Amino acid sequence: MTGQFDVVVIGAGPAGYPAAIRAAQNKLKVACIDEWRNTDGSYAFGGTCLNAGCIPSKALLESSELYQRAKEEFSIHGINLGDIKLDLAAMQKRRASIVRTMTGGIVALFKANGITAYQGHGKLLADNTVESTGPDGSKSILKTRHVVLASGSVPVRLKSVPHDGKLIVDSWNALEFDAVPKRLGIIGAGVIGLELGSVWRRLGSVVTILEAVDQFLPIADQTIAREAQRHFKKQGLIIELGARVTGAKVVGGAVNVAYADAQGEHSLQVDRLVVAVGRRPFTEGLVGDGVNLEMDPRGFIQVDDHCRTNLPDVWAIGDVVRGPMLAHKGKEEGIMVADLIAGRYGEVNYQIIPSVIYTAPEIAWVGQTEEQVKASGRAYKVGSFPFAASGRARAMEAAQGMAKVISAVDDDEVLGVHVIGPMAGELIAEAVLAMEYSASTEDLQRTIHAHPTLSEAIHEAALAVDKRAIDAINR
Ligand code: FAD
Ligand code: NAD
Repeated sequence: MTGQFDVVVIGAGPAGYPAAIRAAQNKLKVACIDEWRNTDGSYAFGGTCLNAGCIPSKALLESSELYQRAKEEFSIHGINLGDIKLDLAAMQKRRASIVRTMTGGIVALFKANGITAYQGHGKLLADNTVESTGPDGSKSILKTRHVVLASGSVPVRLKSVPHDGKLIVDSWNALEFDAVPKRLGIIGAGVIGLELGSVWRRLGSVVTILEAVDQFLPIADQTIAREAQRHFKKQGLIIELGARVTGAKVVGGAVNVAYADAQGEHSLQVDRLVVAVGRRPFTEGLVGDGVNLEMDPRGFIQVDDHCRTNLPDVWAIGDVVRGPMLAHKGKEEGIMVADLIAGRYGEVNYQIIPSVIYTAPEIAWVGQTEEQVKASGRAYKVGSFPFAASGRARAMEAAQGMAKVISAVDDDEVLGVHVIGPMAGELIAEAVLAMEYSASTEDLQRTIHAHPTLSEAIHEAALAVDKRAIDAINR
């Protein structure tokens, strides 16, 4: 079978499927190919994010937080529920059903936008021709003007820690456990380690996270990282920093993990071990022989600021190219590329990409950390506001953490906003918008925030930058 298209997108994750939709909105004839298969063998669009990442992890984070709050917090509100029981099967069923609904939504969106969807493997051949191989091995040749590569990423595996998908697992397996492991080990105190560690700790596991680096959350502002570390410790999450894992072995239904730190060699026995040491770009079988697509030394497809590869009319977006591995970054790249292909304006502001870690308290930031601003040599001022002084946070029984604003001394520009506390991931949107519009700190100070809301914390932190906070003592 042969088809003729304006744009063929390979990969229907959060980078690829928005690219396909925007290209169709731009009146282009579009096909999108995806080979994702779930553990039951079924094909599904949505990539890592919808099937094995953002969405299932947030479903379990929400359920496990409610469970923990029902057990430990409801009585403070005067709600006594008696014996609270965990029904993990029901929790997992809900998680799976959310994923099914969301991935089904992409099928509906493709249909509504007139996009031809192929389930199977896509391969870029010479002269912008794409070969699509269906589940039954049948091949379609798609002729196209433009190709967008959005093949995503896969978990990094450690040679000394042999993955078996049962006891030694990756983040996908760890989202689908059918029983709460008594002792859970996690290698890597990054975003996945902290989010999944939180889920299973709340559900009853003793969780130990082994992190090779000495510093906790080096990507975050260190005031926020220290505050987070204090809360996680109090919650009972065991985080060993400077712990280099040297090997792991399955022995009699458990896993023995060997690691070394400054004190010497140690071993840890756990019932399940999750390897969460980062993800790598996935390009296996993506291009045919003789197609000279340039990669960087780490295996990412090489692109310019507008996601153009070295091949004419071949673009690459999302986790398979440089930049943070975040769904919203991939989405914006997909939209930019689809607009550029249609001759419209397109740009991604890589300086203003928000990050969120969905723990409790939640962590979110945009722009530079205080450490980065200091290193840049630009004179800066800082204001922060504790949620302990927020009436709304108190009413929510969530008066933990703070909002922090970092601004330039010379022109009052907002350089970074960092939040640890309730709904931090939602609150950061205000800071993203402010920075996108090049707002000054004074603009934030003069913006009316409804009372009592959590967003007042950002307002007060902006006021605190000039020692003019009203609801907290200015230091
Ligand atoms: P992917 O989502 O990996 O999609 C790529 C798709 O391409 C896949 O379906 C793959 O099967 C398909 N594909 C690859 N090669 C081919 C081929 N040759 N032919 C056909 N199809 C192909 N990010 C956030 O922003 N927020 C979060 O809360 C968040 N939580 C996460 C939680 C976990 C546990 C994990 C693992 C990740 C999380 N991420 C989160 C990261 C996020 O999932 C990724 O950044 C995002 O999915 C990348 O999108 P993508 O479209 O580039 O790639
Ligand atoms: P990560 O890069 O966030 O963290 C990996 C951690 O593992 C690092 O702290 C690293 O120092 C440590 N590490 C590496 N090798 C190690 C070793 N041998 N022993 C011990 N520790 C080791 O990666 P991740 O947590 O696997 O997440 C992968 C990607 O998915 C990230 O880029 C992240 O942005 C994305 N993600 C995002 C979200 C979110 O936005 N909320 C959630 C989950 C994942």
